[in-house]
Amino acid sequence: MKITKVRAVLYQAHNLIPGWKVSLGGRDTYDLVYLRIDTDKGLVGVGISSPGAAYITGDTAANHLQLINNLFGPAIIGSDPFDIEAVMLKLDSLAMKAEAAKSGIDLALYDLMGKALDLPACKLFGGMVHPRIRVTRLMGMYGPKEMAEKVKGFVERGCSALKLKVGTTLQEDVERVQRVRDAVGPSVTITVDFNQACSAKEAIRRIEKMEPYDVALVEQPVKANDLKGMAMVTKSVGPKIMADESVNSLAEAMQIIETGAADVISLKFPKMGGILKAKKVAVLCEAAGLEYLVGTTPGSRLADAANVHLAASLKDLTLPCEIGEFERMADDPCTGLEIVDGFLSPPPRPGLGVEVDLKRVGLAD
Ligand SMILES: [Mg+2]
Repeated sequence: MKITKVRAVLYQAHNLIPGWKVSLGGRDTYDLVYLRIDTDKGLVGVGISSPGAAYITGDTAANHLQLINNLFGPAIIGSDPFDIEAVMLKLDSLAMKAEAAKSGIDLALYDLMGKALDLPACKLFGGMVHPRIRVTRLMGMYGPKEMAEKVKGFVERGCSALKLKVGTTLQEDVERVQRVRDAVGPSVTITVDFNQACSAKEAIRRIEKMEPYDVALVEQPVKANDLKGMAMVTKSVGPKIMADESVNSLAEAMQIIETGAADVISLKFPKMGGILKAKKVAVLCEAAGLEYLVGTTPGSRLADAANVHLAASLKDLTLPCEIGEFERMADDPCTGLEIVDGFLSPPPRPGLGVEVDLKRVGLAD
């Protein structure tokens, strides 16, 4: 099987929960890039890349369209989709970093390979270890009262894990956790994500004050490049510390391990360059005894289907994963993935397993 055509288009998704923000910034729309790979066998693979928020990633959809349509696409015409390692090596030789744009190609290749073999994508990278994955739902950084009110709906629908965006003042951050704990009861797993808002000492102060409300996991308390500070936080507090913005590659995961900067690594296909590369980071975590989970990629059932396949294949996964944010997006052109009682399962259909309305995204024949 040979690749004959690669096309990418911009698609904008809208957040159903307005006023969403994190400590670094906020937005109500998400730029997504859908891409389609055609082959000489008539099979079509569909992928998605997400530049994420520019105030976190510095990336844009225009950059993805340029890279995929004008650089990556033409370079992989004639390649066999099953030679995914060689295809990714080719993309790496053409563009330094640009991992999020590369990840769209990786997803489309797994979709193609699965369709060619009539197998769900997870069977191509280790197979199914976890048929059901517990879902963590996210809540933007609203005021404490509003946040506690907003998360109730998730728990009423069966969600047993929440991640709260924090990072304003000590008093407000602690009140957020306190009010949410009061609203949802003792059995819900609570994670907080500072998105780099604190110095190490300030993070330690805030986390200690949150501890009475049973915080299981604290994400990226300090700046992405402050591994020394994050190691200090990790050594000083009870809850597990998770690195997110600090880990975008295998090499950065190695630095986290060497410095003892975190207990957990957030695996994300956009920042790591696709499922193939994210799996390599997962293996490194397994060797080093670090925990991992699959972190959020908001905007589409297609992206979350990829996340569910990845999570299902992770040997040492014990933590809930942030794989349900498609629920807060209006205008999703994809169907075939729904949260049931707070859990998600990989779609049983071939490839990534969701139906994408190609006409609606502008990728029909
Ligand atoms: Mg994060």
